Amino acid sequence: MNIILLGAPGAGKGTQAAIICDHLKIPTISTGNIIRAALKSGTEMGLRAKSYMDEGKLVPDEVVIGIIKERLAEDDCKNGFILDGFPRTIPQAEALDKMGVVIDRVVDIEVSDEEIVHRLSGRRVCESCSASYHVTFNKPQEEGKCDLCAGTLIQRMDDHPNTVNERLNVYHEQTEPLRDYYAKQGKLSVVSGEGDISEITRLTLAALEA
Ligand code: ADP
Ligand code: AMP
Repeated sequence: MNIILLGAPGAGKGTQAAIICDHLKIPTISTGNIIRAALKSGTEMGLRAKSYMDEGKLVPDEVVIGIIKERLAEDDCKNGFILDGFPRTIPQAEALDKMGVVIDRVVDIEVSDEEIVHRLSGRRVCESCSASYHVTFNKPQEEGKCDLCAGTLIQRMDDHPNTVNERLNVYHEQTEPLRDYYAKQGKLSVVSGEGDISEITRLTLAALEA
């Protein structure tokens, strides 16, 4: 099954993708994680993306479309995948269609802007495996340490309040129109992203089975 998780930054896409990919045995592809890894290893693409990310802007379409093209061609995507953070613009969605990638289901995880600000200000991520935690809503067993790989938890640069507002603006302007795009294709399910993580997983899995 080829799945897209849509939603604002901080809606819980990564948290849900980690649970669902375990359930369905398909990989999660996060363009944000791929770009951060490229930046860490100092590649040209990573360095080019940095200024956009730091300002809360989107990296140019041709860069992320190139990343996705390469990643979807890998063997582990043959039986399906979960896209987390791609597409984020209409041209990116059109590029997927043009590539002949058939998307089965798009789940939009809806969270209010006010809640997003709380979530992103308290988000901590593992610097090794990118697992996502929250200082009050989703604590690791041991403070500052990843439950999955014992890596160190850090705060993302772009989770600071000034950048969060810009990321929300960008989301409303450029990403939200994708809801209509996929609704018109009959692929969209909307779930509330507010409430227990396990309840949201239940709703998301139900939407995927519908
Ligand atoms: P995204 O991948 O959509 O940017 P994340 O999955 O990283 O979002 O979640 C953003 C933040 O919100 C993280 O700190 C995460 O632990 C927390 N979070 C995720 N789901 C919930 C939820 N249902 N309730 C409260 N906090 C949540
Ligand atoms: P994320 O980890 O999904 O929140 O992404 C972090 C940042 O990476 C975004 O704010 C963008 O700067 C960049 N990025 C990730 N995915 C995309 C995408 N599909 N299109 C453009 N920029 C992206």
